[in-house]
Amino acid sequence: MVLFNRSRVAVLLAVVLVLGGLTAGASVQEDPVRLPIPGVPTQAAQVSTRPNQRAVAAHLKPASFVYEDTGSAGIQLTFDDGPSPLWTPKVLQVLAKYHVHAIFCMVGFRVREHPELVRAVADAGHTLCNHTVEHDPSIGTWSVPDIRADLVENNELITAASGGVKPVYFRSPHGDFTPRIVEVAREVGLASLGWKVTATDWADPPPPAWDIAANIHHHVRPGSIILFHDAGSPGTHAQTVAALKLVLDDFQRRHLKTAYL
Ligand SMILES: [Zn+2]
Repeated sequence: MVLFNRSRVAVLLAVVLVLGGLTAGASVQEDPVRLPIPGVPTQAAQVSTRPNQRAVAAHLKPASFVYEDTGSAGIQLTFDDGPSPLWTPKVLQVLAKYHVHAIFCMVGFRVREHPELVRAVADAGHTLCNHTVEHDPSIGTWSVPDIRADLVENNELITAASGGVKPVYFRSPHGDFTPRIVEVAREVGLASLGWKVTATDWADPPPPAWDIAANIHHHVRPGSIILFHDAGSPGTHAQTVAALKLVLDDFQRRHLKTAYL
């Protein structure tokens, strides 16, 4: 029986190693580094069927200030204003293909409309971020109880939709962080997340994909947090999806790592 158990362990180990090799086939390196294996099919290999249970990255604690860098060499992609049935699935496809994890900053009124997309984002291992219920940029000036009620409500909407995965970051609409809202976010366990580089893809119409990618190419540095949008423009986010591919190809060529906050 001991021998049987050992051989079973060996088989299990082999399966784990093979699966590990497949999932390590990242086209863009993440931090911690995953070794790229050229030619390994990437689609779906990364996608988890279990809910993401990530907490705020160990070196980023909920604090009374706004994080604008990852604190490591890795670059963090973030997507605001979703989820959108038109664009979020397309963004998820690209991220899965390149084996990159992003942070999705979601607004409550869209979470209510499309809870299944929140679940898809969490199941793919991405990190959830609270972007308020109604995306009112004046929220930072509201009373503390009103701010707290909004952040708690959106936390609950996102957590219910995701199947139990809580948001761990907070992003104020338009990046209008006031000391008051940052403090309330900290109280409810959310680290405030800013950015250093923007895809300028919220405009109507948004810039062409090449312009979005070129802007990021020129401004991105190790540790940058980049702002994209998978919803919110009155126009289209087709350029966001196209630019995302260009940006990740660019990272690959320049050996830039992505973070997983
Ligand atoms: Zn927004």
